[in-house]
Amino acid sequence: MAKRIKLENIIPVLQSHKHNDIEYGKREYCPICGESLAKQTIREEYVCEACRHLVQATDIYCSHCSERLSDTDRVDHYIGGLRINDKLFQLIKNEIEI
Ligand SMILES: [Zn+2]
Ligand SMILES: [Zn+2]
Repeated sequence: MAKRIKLENIIPVLQSHKHNDIEYGKREYCPICGESLAKQTIREEYVCEACRHLVQATDIYCSHCSERLSDTDRVDHYIGGLRINDKLFQLIKNEIEI
Protein backbone atom coordinates (compact mmCIF):
# COMPACT_ATOMS: atom_id res chain seq x y z
CA MET A 1 0.00 0.00 0.00
CA ALA A 2 1.36 3.41 -0.99
CA LYS A 3 -0.01 6.85 -0.43
CA ARG A 4 -1.32 9.03 -3.22
CA ILE A 5 0.43 12.36 -2.55
CA LYS A 6 -1.07 15.55 -3.85
CA LEU A 7 1.31 18.07 -5.41
CA GLU A 8 0.56 21.76 -5.69
CA ASN A 9 2.96 23.40 -8.11
CA ILE A 10 3.11 27.14 -8.77
CA ILE A 11 3.90 27.54 -12.46
CA PRO A 12 4.18 30.57 -14.73
CA VAL A 13 1.65 30.85 -17.54
CA LEU A 14 1.31 33.43 -20.26
CA GLN A 15 -2.00 35.19 -20.15
CA SER A 16 -3.84 36.18 -23.26
CA HIS A 17 -3.83 39.85 -23.92
CA LYS A 18 -5.81 42.53 -25.75
CA HIS A 19 -3.55 42.78 -28.83
CA ASN A 20 -4.40 39.60 -30.67
CA ASP A 21 -2.27 40.40 -33.70
CA ILE A 22 1.07 39.89 -31.92
CA GLU A 23 2.78 36.63 -31.16
CA TYR A 24 3.40 36.20 -27.46
CA GLY A 25 6.03 33.46 -27.54
CA LYS A 26 8.17 33.67 -24.41
CA ARG A 27 7.79 37.43 -23.93
CA GLU A 28 7.34 38.59 -20.36
CA TYR A 29 5.98 42.01 -21.26
CA CYS A 30 3.76 43.17 -24.08
CA PRO A 31 5.86 44.95 -26.73
CA ILE A 32 2.97 47.29 -27.50
CA CYS A 33 1.76 48.52 -24.09
CA GLY A 34 4.40 47.16 -21.72
CA GLU A 35 1.96 45.21 -19.54
CA SER A 36 3.22 42.07 -17.89
CA LEU A 37 2.17 38.91 -19.74
CA ALA A 38 3.42 36.53 -17.08
CA LYS A 39 0.96 35.18 -14.56
CA GLN A 40 1.31 32.45 -11.98
CA THR A 41 -1.11 29.62 -11.50
CA ILE A 42 -1.26 26.50 -9.34
CA ARG A 43 -1.25 23.10 -11.03
CA GLU A 44 -2.48 20.18 -8.96
CA GLU A 45 -1.23 16.65 -9.58
CA TYR A 46 -0.90 13.39 -7.71
CA VAL A 47 2.04 11.02 -7.42
CA CYS A 48 2.49 7.53 -6.04
CA GLU A 49 4.48 7.68 -2.79
CA ALA A 50 6.40 4.51 -3.68
CA CYS A 51 7.69 5.42 -7.15
CA ARG A 52 6.83 9.14 -7.51
CA HIS A 53 5.16 8.60 -10.88
CA LEU A 54 2.09 10.65 -11.73
CA VAL A 55 -1.23 9.00 -10.96
CA GLN A 56 -4.81 10.18 -11.24
CA ALA A 57 -6.84 11.21 -8.20
CA THR A 58 -9.19 8.30 -8.91
CA ASP A 59 -6.59 5.55 -9.55
CA ILE A 60 -6.82 2.58 -7.21
CA TYR A 61 -3.47 1.08 -8.25
CA CYS A 62 -0.33 2.85 -9.44
CA SER A 63 -0.03 2.15 -13.16
CA HIS A 64 3.77 2.24 -12.87
CA CYS A 65 4.64 0.06 -9.83
CA SER A 66 1.26 -1.64 -9.12
CA GLU A 67 1.13 -0.53 -5.48
CA ARG A 68 -2.40 -0.13 -4.18
CA LEU A 69 -2.95 3.56 -3.48
CA SER A 70 -4.46 4.92 -0.30
CA ASP A 71 -5.75 8.43 0.24
CA THR A 72 -3.82 10.87 2.36
CA ASP A 73 -4.08 14.48 3.44
CA ARG A 74 -0.44 15.01 2.57
CA VAL A 75 0.20 17.80 0.06
CA ASP A 76 3.69 18.55 -1.25
CA HIS A 77 4.40 22.04 -2.52
CA TYR A 78 6.55 23.07 -5.44
CA ILE A 79 7.39 26.24 -7.29
CA GLY A 80 8.59 25.75 -10.86
CA GLY A 81 9.35 22.11 -10.05
CA LEU A 82 11.41 22.85 -6.90
CA ARG A 83 10.15 21.54 -3.58
CA ILE A 84 9.41 24.29 -1.03
CA ASN A 85 8.04 24.10 2.48
CA ASP A 86 4.35 24.63 3.16
CA LYS A 87 4.82 27.94 4.98
CA LEU A 88 6.76 29.48 2.09
CA PHE A 89 4.16 28.15 -0.36
CA GLN A 90 1.35 29.87 1.55
CA LEU A 91 3.32 33.15 1.59
CA ILE A 92 3.87 33.02 -2.18
CA LYS A 93 0.29 31.95 -2.81
CA ASN A 94 -0.96 35.00 -0.89
CA GLU A 95 1.24 37.26 -3.00
CA ILE A 96 0.01 36.07 -6.40
CA GLU A 97 -3.37 36.32 -8.00
CA ILE A 98 -4.70 32.90 -8.80
ZN1 LIG B 1 -0.37 45.11 -24.63
ZN1 LIG C 1 3.97 3.67 -8.00
